[in-house]
Amino acid sequence: MTSDVTTLISPVEALIAAERVTVAYENDPVIVDVDLTIEPGDMIGIVGPSGSGKSTLFRALLGSVPLHSGSVSRRAGLTVGLVPQVERIDWNFPVTVAECVAMARAGGWRTPWIRRGERREIDAVLERLGLDGLAGRHIRNLSGGQQQRVFLARAMFTGAEAIFLDEPTSGLDVTTRHEVLHLLDDLNRDGVTIVLSTHDLNGIATHLPTIVCLNRSVIGAGTPADVLTPDVLERTYGSPMEILEHGGMRVVVDSGHGSSLLPLRRDVGA
Ligand code: ADP
Repeated sequence: MTSDVTTLISPVEALIAAERVTVAYENDPVIVDVDLTIEPGDMIGIVGPSGSGKSTLFRALLGSVPLHSGSVSRRAGLTVGLVPQVERIDWNFPVTVAECVAMARAGGWRTPWIRRGERREIDAVLERLGLDGLAGRHIRNLSGGQQQRVFLARAMFTGAEAIFLDEPTSGLDVTTRHEVLHLLDDLNRDGVTIVLSTHDLNGIATHLPTIVCLNRSVIGAGTPADVLTPDVLERTYGSPMEILEHGGMRVVVDSGHGSSLLPLRRDVGA
């Protein structure tokens, strides 16, 4: 992954390559000249404040919004799973966990009845995600973390090579957030490419190997150590931030919002 597609990355190997992508809603540019390459096995966090264009960049990468200019190429036959924000889903839709997972195949346009032979596959995925025993439960009666994992199960059931997650830990408590991050790390170690968006620097971004700071355009891209600098953070979040060392931890001090402990890089698989 890099912000300079043409010089550092072979487009042949990339899953998705965006070059100088601009997207505008009603002639108002929302992301401008974005270069981004996603390679197999990447685990990338798209970081930026609300309204900085993270969802729009997802849509551009996945081909669900017209480009004003630039190009996005996707590797032929690429399978991608999208995990939306759990808060934006109508959880009253009358299906069980197993049915919800089964519906992910054929683009969701099928009856929720589980085909013969699929049940074992679904049970295996649910077990992998710690959802065993919940197959017959209505999706409404799940915790936020379990709902998040149902969508991960859908992506895994389709055999997606890359999983995109929109604010995956939004609304989750700290423990559940860590569980979701561990799961994503496990999936990534199994070779699944993970791309997620987040506004949460301290809780998520610093746990990832690669961060892309976005605010209309790519402000910085690289490891947290490379990217989490006062300059990049100020240009991304629009307010001055200082980074201090304290007891082996990095502390980001945002004069507008107080301070918080910021581990530079944690091995989420540990
Ligand atoms: P983020 O995901 O970082 O919050 P978005 O990509 O959702 O950012 O939004 C970026 C900007 O584009 C915001 O100002 C938002 O109001 C605007 N926007 C997003 N989607 C639409 C749309 N369908 N039509 C018009 N404006 C939109």
